[in-house]
Amino acid sequence: MSTTTEKLSSADLIKMEEKYGAHNYHPLPVVLAKGEGVHVWDVEGKHYYDFLSAYSAVNQGHCHPHIIGALKEQAETLTLTSRAFYNDTLGPFEKYVTEYFGFDKVLAMNSGAEAVETAIKICRKYAYERKGIAENQAKIIVCDDNFHGRTTTIISFSNDENARKNFGPYTPGFIKIPYNDTEALKKALQEENVAGFLVEPIQGEAGVFVPDEGYLTKVRELCSEAGVLFIADEVQTGIARTGQILACDHENVKPDILILGKAISGGVYPVSAVLADDEVMGVIQPGQHGSTFGGNPMAAKVAVAALEVVENEKLAENAEKMGQLFRKEMNRIIDNTDLVTKVRGKGLLNAILINDTPESTTAWDLCMAMKENGLIAKPTHGNIIRFAPPLVMNEEQMMECVAIIEKTITEFKK
Ligand SMILES: *Cc1c(COP(=O)(O)O)cnc(C)c1O
Repeated sequence: MSTTTEKLSSADLIKMEEKYGAHNYHPLPVVLAKGEGVHVWDVEGKHYYDFLSAYSAVNQGHCHPHIIGALKEQAETLTLTSRAFYNDTLGPFEKYVTEYFGFDKVLAMNSGAEAVETAIKICRKYAYERKGIAENQAKIIVCDDNFHGRTTTIISFSNDENARKNFGPYTPGFIKIPYNDTEALKKALQEENVAGFLVEPIQGEAGVFVPDEGYLTKVRELCSEAGVLFIADEVQTGIARTGQILACDHENVKPDILILGKAISGGVYPVSAVLADDEVMGVIQPGQHGSTFGGNPMAAKVAVAALEVVENEKLAENAEKMGQLFRKEMNRIIDNTDLVTKVRGKGLLNAILINDTPESTTAWDLCMAMKENGLIAKPTHGNIIRFAPPLVMNEEQMMECVAIIEKTITEFKK
């Protein structure tokens, strides 16, 4: 047995996870022990800039004092009542969140995948009860290369073999079309029994794929014409990440159902939420959907604090400004290297494309080298590296990070 005086090294801790944990992730070999703002430190005390932000869950920066303060205070007061009773935190959370995003109602859950499941259930129920679609016939249109989470229903309409294979039988009722293709959407909307269109305003996991300007506007228009619910999954793009509070705000469109997760928690405590107006949310009646922990007092207080930070610190504006700077600097680096071909993104959700095949280890090796130089990021789809630091990053820090990336790329040998 280990004693409390024994300090485990990074290598020990990696071995421990290998031995006792399921191998459902392939982490970069760095073992973090502390975080503050845009900074993290490993077990040995080495400092890094965090360029993943827990997949954009830590937009407000690590251990933000305002959010941690709310957590601590609520933790000592009341943590969980279940929804069998009312409590004094849920109502204020619901009022704050609905006013913040401009919807009549919110339904709180915990993880992003649960919120997506909730949206799918609401969409189907609305189809049967308000649109008169015949029982069990409702279809939801989704996009190729989507990422909406890991439940059996959600992976049923994934086209990532890793996410899908040998987890069947799959949930039916989904139609897949190419992303960023309004002609394909128009055609799919003509099929019978279509209830909704579920889409990410920017495909994050797919490698930060930004659709053409006007895509969301056209999606809104086509869905309205067809009387089909437009469901925006903003779990990754929401909460100021792309330079607006929501990625949909870039085109001033309002989805019928909005899905939030990740950074609505401030990276502190799992919170997710589904928002819709009364007409749509009204289909959910007592006993028809729920979660023991959904909207619990800790989650309610943490989420409000997390959203207050976004507003008080103008994180959307900062993401927009820092994102412009980042892409400008990346384009300058790209002009002087063959290793990187492109930078793309919006706000502080960006990716660079590595000049090698998805099967190559080049992007991984580059991330390993950046780690040595004090910046951690992770490849997605083999040859793409996503760069998504906390939105509290200032210009001086960003330029230091650009210098680390530039040095790593310049010195990199395949
Ligand atoms: C991360 C993510 C999810 C799933 O969220 P979890 O909290 O991991 O279940 C859903 N949709 C999008 C767009 C995501 O990026």
